[in-house]
Amino acid sequence: MSTVTTSAPDSIAASGGPLGTALAQLSGAVSMLDLDAGMHEMLAVPRREVHVSVPLRRDDGSTVLFRGYRVQHNVSRGPGKGGLRFHPSVDIDEVRALAMWMTWKCAIVDLPYGGAKGGVTIDPREHSESELERVTRRYTSEIKPVIGPDVDIMAPDMGTSEQTMAWVMDTYSVSQGYTIPAVVTGKPIAVGGSLGRATATSAGVVHTTRAVLTEAGVDLAEARIAIQGFGKVGGHAAEIFAAEGATVVAVSDQYGGVINREGLDMPALMEHFVATGSVVGFAESDPIDNDALLALEVDVLVPAAVEGVIDERTAPTVRARFVVEGANGPTTGEGDRILAKNGIVVVPDILANAGGVVVSYFEWVQANQAYWWAEHEIAEKLEHRMHSAYADVAALARREDIRLRDAALAIGVQRVSEAHKIRGLYP
Ligand code: NAD
Repeated sequence: MSTVTTSAPDSIAASGGPLGTALAQLSGAVSMLDLDAGMHEMLAVPRREVHVSVPLRRDDGSTVLFRGYRVQHNVSRGPGKGGLRFHPSVDIDEVRALAMWMTWKCAIVDLPYGGAKGGVTIDPREHSESELERVTRRYTSEIKPVIGPDVDIMAPDMGTSEQTMAWVMDTYSVSQGYTIPAVVTGKPIAVGGSLGRATATSAGVVHTTRAVLTEAGVDLAEARIAIQGFGKVGGHAAEIFAAEGATVVAVSDQYGGVINREGLDMPALMEHFVATGSVVGFAESDPIDNDALLALEVDVLVPAAVEGVIDERTAPTVRARFVVEGANGPTTGEGDRILAKNGIVVVPDILANAGGVVVSYFEWVQANQAYWWAEHEIAEKLEHRMHSAYADVAALARREDIRLRDAALAIGVQRVSEAHKIRGLYP
């Protein structure tokens, strides 16, 4: 375990990738808030990062080694909080970027958390359930010294699930000798999960979409929507949008997409997805590829899959009026400049997809109290927090005549830097 110094923030920002995007965003907020160079460096470099090897004994008896990471970007407002990602493209810079975004996100929705993220460079589709369980348990035991309910709390992200969180919780609890549900969030209800957590990120995406549309005088029920990514975020978002009366015209996953200009029949699509594991091949639709989906003329485009899909190549093709970022970092810096030039309103990831961490916080509070709330209480509290965070961001954007992303970053960075200043520097 070590506290790590990365190369100079500016040189990384220039090199691109998610970390380049995240550092460039931070630099923008630092200039806007007029923070000094010392504070800039404190916010640019993670407080702590752990690199681990994760050996796996495969079902056939052979062994293979994976790399894993846990980065705690900032803990000035509370324990680290952030997801665990299993994906072949995971690397330390991606995890650093995701951890930094978690810091701003938690501050924007005013949670008593810092930002963290973890990942293992593995393609979960190539492994059996029992292999994934062994990888999860070994990864957890390797990073155990730096996690805990008061230290750093994990949640699911791409390629991980409720079941993964149950294995993390069990491994951690067995090592401590008693059950500690608050070490993870997004776990199954049967072992202390929260009602409403599975759909919380998507519900938050819908709340912020409604808020931005209402400001523009558009009724959500009149809106036409395209969603990239049909996983935990995109899939539930499609269902909730449709249930709210919006027309979901197209959705996609990593295998391709489907479109029906009259609106996709969501219950039938869900049935097809559950049966086949993909949206591709859904009968009552035409095929569409991921690039064409991004270019559809719709009211709202929701990128809810991977990073960097709206870049200098695809951004000029985007014809949606609003982009609501369900995924983390779906728009590169250059992509963002092009969207701005074309007058497209972007609800940034650190606001739009914060519903997941809000209900994770509720789950953690419930687990710490060993007292569980009713589903309607969770839904109401989530809606209130999302609307109040949106209102703060939109008010600053109007006052300063800046974009929602810049306003959200300014609020997040300001709250974190204020915590640093008030706490002072030890020793
Ligand atoms: P997931 O693994 O459940 O789903 C990911 C989806 O994206 C799948 O449908 C997959 O097929 C699709 N996909 C993968 N690569 C793709 C590609 N190249 N093109 C098109 N589609 C592709 O993951 P998730 O939890 O839904 O996360 C999606 C995004 O949302 C990530 O950026 C994640 O960090 C972010 N996010 C998730 C949560 C959460 O609560 N799960 C919260 C906040 C943010």
